Amino acid sequence: MTTADLAAADQRTLIHPHTVIGAPAEPLVLDRGEGALLWDTDGNQYLDGTCGLWQCPVGHGRAELADVAAEQIRRLEFYSSFGDYSNAPSIRLAERLLSLAPAGLERVFLTNGGSEGNETAIKLARLAFHHAGSPERTVVLARHGGYHGMGGASLAATGIEGLRAGYGPLLPDVEWLGKPHGLEHGPHATDLLVAELEKRIEEIGAHRIAAFIGEPVLGVGGMVPPPEDYWPRVREVLRRHGILLIMDEIVTAFGRTGHWFGSEHFGVEPDMIVTAKGLTSGYIPMGAVLIGRSVLELAEGATFLHGFTYNGHPVGSAVALANLDIIEKENLLERATVLGARLRARLDPLAELPHVREVRGVGLMLGIEFADQPTAPVQAGCRADGVVVRASGTSIVLSPPLVITEDQIDTLADVLCKHVAAAAS
Ligand code: PLP
Repeated sequence: MTTADLAAADQRTLIHPHTVIGAPAEPLVLDRGEGALLWDTDGNQYLDGTCGLWQCPVGHGRAELADVAAEQIRRLEFYSSFGDYSNAPSIRLAERLLSLAPAGLERVFLTNGGSEGNETAIKLARLAFHHAGSPERTVVLARHGGYHGMGGASLAATGIEGLRAGYGPLLPDVEWLGKPHGLEHGPHATDLLVAELEKRIEEIGAHRIAAFIGEPVLGVGGMVPPPEDYWPRVREVLRRHGILLIMDEIVTAFGRTGHWFGSEHFGVEPDMIVTAKGLTSGYIPMGAVLIGRSVLELAEGATFLHGFTYNGHPVGSAVALANLDIIEKENLLERATVLGARLRARLDPLAELPHVREVRGVGLMLGIEFADQPTAPVQAGCRADGVVVRASGTSIVLSPPLVITEDQIDTLADVLCKHVAAAAS
């Protein structure tokens, strides 16, 4: 099939996520990848400035991960982990994750991806309180600008209104807090956000609130880090009221912020951490929920009637272990910090442009927010110049593979700066 044939067949047969039904877009049909580079079926090369959807710290085309997957498929492709069945890669992965995790996290629930992880964490928080004799603790506190996925609970807790529209009632008992964005709240942002949290808890009643869910740094919301003292102060308030903290680290875990977990960057120890994406670098869809002692104590003795067929997948687990080895051996956490600073130094001057509101980020997850100008032309212009960046609402977001080279970082910056400057006119 030629590229044109493939594109036509795609439009005839597939519905892609986040597209208009009946009006399919012309697809860019990708063929292969290596490191931070991608090639389409016509042989055109692209520099990957986004890792697709943040999922690929170790870069594309790693033969060692393909070998591990093939070996595991030959040995045992899959068997359900419901009840008392298990497999060695899942057990080893759980041990490894707990050895890397912040203090207090003691168990792992393996999933197929991010949304499923958040469904799991929210259900488990509610079940834990139900079991511990507080069945009225069902409320989930979530934040405007947050993104937690596409399931009934994870979408209900997603604070981007357009995404929730049209689906009727989702999970009830989600209550909203302001977007944790320093720029929008001024120099006393943390004081204001913490006061709002205290006020909402008082209005709702702490005895009704099960959990607070948040991303350490908003991802889909535009790569927005909160003020540095935000998380420790939120943590203190939640602890005082017995509310569980679910940290959605689906984007931030496994190196992107320069740490294994974004929680470490902000010095916070959550009750649950939800991960996916970077766990396997996307080579196999997989996620993991890390569960704290605080939750286990509440839920002790409860039957968790929850699970999806492919939980605890041995191939995903084997690939995840090999992926974590690569992150460690190739010092990718340090690379995220060093290369993030290099890219940031090139992008910071863009903040002087009248149509740029802010350049921001942590490690190798950066965002450029526009004032009024549309961001889609920047994405299109960069792609025409062989660089993939993502327009996410009013921001351009960047999260290249952590194996991107210094020269590639400079190319990414050159092309992006050109198109951001051009967007002024
Ligand atoms: N949470 C965050 C912070 C995400 O960025 C995403 C996906 O982008 C999800 C949850 C949902 O993960 P998935 O698409 O794997 O279901």
